[in-house]
Amino acid sequence: MAETIGFIGLGNMGLPMVQQLLNAGYNVRAFDICKKSLDKAKKLGALPVSSIFECAEGSHVILSMLPAGKDVKAVYLGTDGLIESCSQQTLLIDSSTIDIVSSRQIGTAATESGLDMLDAPVTGGVMAARTGNLNFIVGGTESAFERAKPILSVMGENLLYAGEQGSGIGVKICNNMALGVSMIAAAESLMLAKRLGLNVAQTHKIMANASGQSWPLNNYCPLPDLVEGVPSNNGYKPGFTASMMQKDLRLAMDAAESVDACTPMGAEALSLYSLFCSNGDGATDYSGISKLVGGDAWNYPFSPEE
Ligand code: NAD
Repeated sequence: MAETIGFIGLGNMGLPMVQQLLNAGYNVRAFDICKKSLDKAKKLGALPVSSIFECAEGSHVILSMLPAGKDVKAVYLGTDGLIESCSQQTLLIDSSTIDIVSSRQIGTAATESGLDMLDAPVTGGVMAARTGNLNFIVGGTESAFERAKPILSVMGENLLYAGEQGSGIGVKICNNMALGVSMIAAAESLMLAKRLGLNVAQTHKIMANASGQSWPLNNYCPLPDLVEGVPSNNGYKPGFTASMMQKDLRLAMDAAESVDACTPMGAEALSLYSLFCSNGDGATDYSGISKLVGGDAWNYPFSPEE
């Protein structure tokens, strides 16, 4: 008999993840506080349920995909939370991107109740969720990770073990701080080339093979017509939104403060993304930050040959 998965949080990411699980033959008991999301899950073929308790009933694994630490705490902790409601055999997986403190608090509560719990945040946005190509960065015991592998591999192409519970979130936050900073660096360099009257395409080609290369510059270029298949070629339609990047940079700064880490570049990246979002660009792909750093030279659309 197919395993039953309880899924909590049927938003932009959750619904396509549910679709992947259903396609792979799992039964899904789906819960969300939003009635419209429940209806959408039902249309996909999941069983909509009206409480956390019902979601836990008969589920071998429960996966959550929620906005913030407070939402994840509301779902897992307390007398009517998941940890109290599910059976000892249930594996709990939280894939939300939240603060490390909340993640560890929930993980500790689960362990104290004898439950296996993983934090398994993802990289890759809605498109990757739709195609089952997410990357999961997983924290928890190795045995729980082994248990989760068949389910996570239905939704993700890379399952990356980070260490003890809370490490998945920690690694994701560090990764995305580097990503935000290097995206801005790539945009600044190319816009400087443009202002200097250099051939931008040639500049990009040389940098992509020289020491200025980076993942955003080489693979997710913030200026159009330099790399195939990226949001900058498509009016900066996300992809991964600037407001998601702002959220992750905020989490990084909170984490840095909690351990007195010096992260001036991360702080600068957060202020630039915050400015970009407050200018009304929160729903733009995060590579659109090139508009902000480019100022009046940005002038899109333009030929990279200019
Ligand atoms: P979303 O806002 O679209 O969906 C969240 C869902 O959770 C909503 O349907 C909401 O009603 C539901 N919810 C909130 N509180 C709840 C509760 N107490 N009980 C049950 N349901 C509740 O968000 P999303 O874009 O799907 O993102 C989910 C998580 O994935 C976030 O932590 C985000 O940072 C992370 N993430 C998102 C992306 C992306 O591109 N969207 C990429 C990587 C990671």
